[in-house]
Formats: sequence, structure tokens, C-alpha cells
Amino acid sequence: MDKSDSRLQPQTTTKAVMDRERPVIALVVPCYNEEEGLQQCCDVLGGVLERMTGEGIASDRSFILLVDDGSRDRTWDVIRALHASRTDVRGISLAHNRGQYNAIFAGLMTVRSMCDAAISIDADLQDSPEAVVEMVRRFREGADIVYGVRASRETDSWFKRNSARAFYRLQRSMGLDIVYDHSEFRLMDRTSLDILAEFGECNLYLRGIMPYIGLRSAIVRYDRSARTTGTTKYSLGKLLSVSIDGITSFTAKPMRLIFMLGLLLLLVDVAVSVWVLVSHFRGYAISGWSSIMLSLWFLGSVVLISLGIIGEYIGKIFVEVKRRPRYNIAESLLD
Ligand code: UDP
Ligand code: MG
Repeated sequence: MDKSDSRLQPQTTTKAVMDRERPVIALVVPCYNEEEGLQQCCDVLGGVLERMTGEGIASDRSFILLVDDGSRDRTWDVIRALHASRTDVRGISLAHNRGQYNAIFAGLMTVRSMCDAAISIDADLQDSPEAVVEMVRRFREGADIVYGVRASRETDSWFKRNSARAFYRLQRSMGLDIVYDHSEFRLMDRTSLDILAEFGECNLYLRGIMPYIGLRSAIVRYDRSARTTGTTKYSLGKLLSVSIDGITSFTAKPMRLIFMLGLLLLLVDVAVSVWVLVSHFRGYAISGWSSIMLSLWFLGSVVLISLGIIGEYIGKIFVEVKRRPRYNIAESLLD
């Protein structure tokens, strides 16, 4: 069996067998400058854990892991205080701001030996805490990965709704197998966490990797509410950069498109050449000036766009070959 095959096999571990009856659930919460909202976040999520324990569908050892993604405000101080005052809160602090995906990944890798299933959920309580219970139910019924999927996008602005739709469509046309209207709200069981740990790439597009892991999946639909505290940590620039990373870290299809575009231009070029030659022999050469100028500009931009896309891939190779660690944990509160 070659290496790529063995990567997708569940890894044998020395841990106890996964408990699906009364699983230990870890809620992994990435936090970037979330000082105002964390108290409320822990109250609500802690309440959900308590309820599940009461109903007998989760172990009373279930916990919340707050991942401070190199915040510039007092987030880590708040996490320390919450850890000191509550038994269900743990925390890790990343040395730098590494972005939501890496913060979630750091959290998942930290909890994978401590839980039966981990659920990644935003700190701003936009992801429905109710859906957490539903996810655990699906896990108990046998699902290994449960995707939180937005039932509607009515709370979004017209621009956000349509740009998101366009982006999903673009990704699918590029050959990515992603779940529509699913973001980072999902449950992963211990086996899928072990498989995720085997992915060595630094450009980690979790949404794209999930379906690639395979295993039994289920969907839970929920209504995404508005942010309760603070503001979004995603600027338009950051969103765009995540989108570009998502596609370029997964597929080389844009390169194929450049090739197709080249072929198309060759055809156009034949027609243009005929036109230019006819104009020349009829003595209208000077009137071709505008068409030449047009094609010069057009070709110039095509060449630039093409170089940009190729550069995007070379940049990826550059980062991947360095094999830098994705994050460095500065401090841990895991007891
Ligand atoms: N987040 C993070 N690192 C970042 C940006 C965001 O850990 O660099 C966290 C943030 O604290 C929140 C979650 O990722 O818990 C989602 O961010 P946000 O709510 O700003 O995104 P939106 O809901 O607006 O898409
Ligand atoms: Mg949010």
C-alpha cells in the first residue's frame, strides 16, 4: 500500500475504545479578540453540556476548550479566569494569530486524546448551541462527522449571500467536494481526528479536507443568528484570501484553465491574422492600429493574470516544502 493510501486508514491508537453511548464531548472554540463575549459563551455552552449530561447523552467529563488565537486584547486573561472559576473550561493560547482554521486545528489536535468527539464552534454564539445537542445525537446514531449546515441565509446581506453562493459554485466547478452552506461548525469523532492529524499540509482548508476524510457523515440544519457581542474578525480582504487559499491548496485546475484559454486565444489569433493580412494587402494597414492596441492590452492582461495564478501555486510549494509548524502553543491549561 502506498503512503497516500495508508494516510486515509484510521490510525490504531492506544486509547480506550470510543464511547458512543455517553461520549466525552469537547467543544473547541477559536477566539480572536473575543474578551467581551467569552463569559456568555461559556455560560451558554456549559449549559448545553450540562443538559446533555442530565439527559444521559454525554459524559460529565465533557468540556470546553478555548483556543486563544494570538489575541491582542485581554482574551487570554479572561480564559485564565474562566479556567480558574469553572471545572468545564480549559484553554490553550497560540503564540501568534494564525487564523480561524489553524486555531481550530490546534484545538482539535489538543483534545483528540481527551474526548470521543470534538465539536468546533464559533465564540460569538452565531452557531446554534441547540444544534450541538442534535450533532451529539447523530454521533450516537453512528455518524463519524456531522456537518452544521445553515438552513437559510436570510440573516445575511444581499452581497454576502450571493458572494457565498458564487464561491461555493466556483469551488465545485474546480472539483472540490464541499458541503453547501457549511462553515466550521462540525462534529468530528476520534477516528476522523486521528486521520486529520495525518494531513501534513500547512495550507489547511478544513472544509475541503472533511469530505476527503470520508467516513460516515450526517448533516444538522440550523439557523445562524447574528453576533451577540463584538464584531466580525473577517474583513473582505481576509475572506478573499481564505477563498483563494481554499481553491489553490486543493486543485491545480486553474492551471488547466490557463492552458484552455491559451488554446482559445490561438483560435482567435488565426482569425485576427487573416483580418490583419487582408487589411494589409488592401492598403488599409493604418486602420489596424486600434485593433493592435486592443489586442496588446488584452494579451498583456491575460499574461499577467496567468502569471499571477502560476505564482499562487509556486507560493504554495514554497510554503509546503518548508514544513513549518502550523502553530506554537505558548501556554496550556489542560488539567
Ligand atoms: N477567529 C480566530 N482567528 C481569526 C479570526 C477569527 O480564531 O484570525 C475566530 C473568532 O474569534 C470566532 C470565529 O473564528 O470565534 C469566527 O469568526 P467571526 O465570527 O469573526 O467570523 P464570521 O462569523 O463573521 O464569519
Ligand atoms: Mg461570527
